[in-house]
Amino acid sequence: MMAHWPALAAVTVVVLVAAVISPGHALLLALGLAMGPPLTRYLARRNAETRATADAAALSDTHPLQAVLDAVGNPVMVVDVRSNLYHANPAALAAYGGLATGQPLSFSLRAPQVLDALSASLADGIARTVELIERVPVERAYACTISPLVGRSRAPAPAAVLVLREISKERAIEAMRVDFVANASHELRTPLASILGFIETLQGPARNDVPAREKFLGIMHTQARRMSRLVDDLLSLSRIELKEHIAPTNTVDIARVVDDIALSLSEVARERGVEIVILRETTRTLVLGDRDELASVMDNLIENAIKYGHAGKKVEVTLDQLANGDVSVAVRDYGPGIEPQFLPRLTERFYRVDSQLSRAEGGTGLGLALVKHTINRHRGRLDITSTPGQGATFTIILRAALA
Ligand code: ADP
Repeated sequence: MMAHWPALAAVTVVVLVAAVISPGHALLLALGLAMGPPLTRYLARRNAETRATADAAALSDTHPLQAVLDAVGNPVMVVDVRSNLYHANPAALAAYGGLATGQPLSFSLRAPQVLDALSASLADGIARTVELIERVPVERAYACTISPLVGRSRAPAPAAVLVLREISKERAIEAMRVDFVANASHELRTPLASILGFIETLQGPARNDVPAREKFLGIMHTQARRMSRLVDDLLSLSRIELKEHIAPTNTVDIARVVDDIALSLSEVARERGVEIVILRETTRTLVLGDRDELASVMDNLIENAIKYGHAGKKVEVTLDQLANGDVSVAVRDYGPGIEPQFLPRLTERFYRVDSQLSRAEGGTGLGLALVKHTINRHRGRLDITSTPGQGATFTIILRAALA
């Protein structure tokens, strides 16, 4: 099929495709072509050969430019001036099984915005990029760039090139970023609004009301502490994310970390009527890690077990060793547990099963997100299991350090 292409059109297609995928390479390619590199000479020779060959179709499969398009990982479609498909590379055929050469593109690409933009580009010769959303079998988003080939008005001949670039991941990350900023602002705005309200009351109606002043100052203190915890957690999260690709290499005795954290939380536990029990099933407790980061993980998990599971009166922390030598630390409570449908979302930022309870407990909704990122950085694993009504178990697996 492509053996019919005049060399100029073919070269234009390659430059256009390269321009969409890698502008830098396109520039080099265009410069190289302008100076008469081997490819141009090859194309000219190949064109002459093609004209001289009676069975042009036999050559089509081996045409170097088709091979170039077919090697491109992004879906590429070439259409003629009537929007009939002229060529589709394997990536395009994989994305749209129904594509058939010679048939209108609209038969298999049911995307009005792309087809409208294609008609417009064929009419005015201007390139366009439009979004293409596919919902079946799974939702995917593409940026589709339509580049008309100037002066290609006869059919059948290539008149425009469509290149698809999948942008599903970028869209998901962008949505997460927007959600994150919205959530963080909302979390900060609530206590801030409360503090501002009390300041106004203290400056106005409650100016000389000593008992009210004491009460309001107490609330303002609580709200300010909440904001400060939130900012601390946000900063810790961004610090961990920044170094997530570098695994810590220090040797840490995780048993000592557990002892220290259990001691520091003993007062909170006592106030809630909770007993912290440490069970050592192994003496090999040296792991590769960062002491402060692992202390923060243990603090989050044991404090959560006390906060949300205090009804069970007992929190067990079990240290064990797996068959491959890795060390596991399981924090188990006997509280109400967590319904299975919530488990996969627990480590999302700001996700809470019961927001009111979390806020009343002074939670930021970032604790388990921090745990997850810290354990990722340690190249470890976090498993969460729960039987509603019987409590929850948060287990971290850490790489053993050589003694
Ligand atoms: P928070 O600051 O709200 O405690 P986390 O990220 O630490 O945030 O926890 C997220 C949510 O997971 C909590 O709001 C709570 O609903 C739930 N959760 C965490 N630990 C437990 C537990 N041991 N038992 C029951 N629910 C828990």
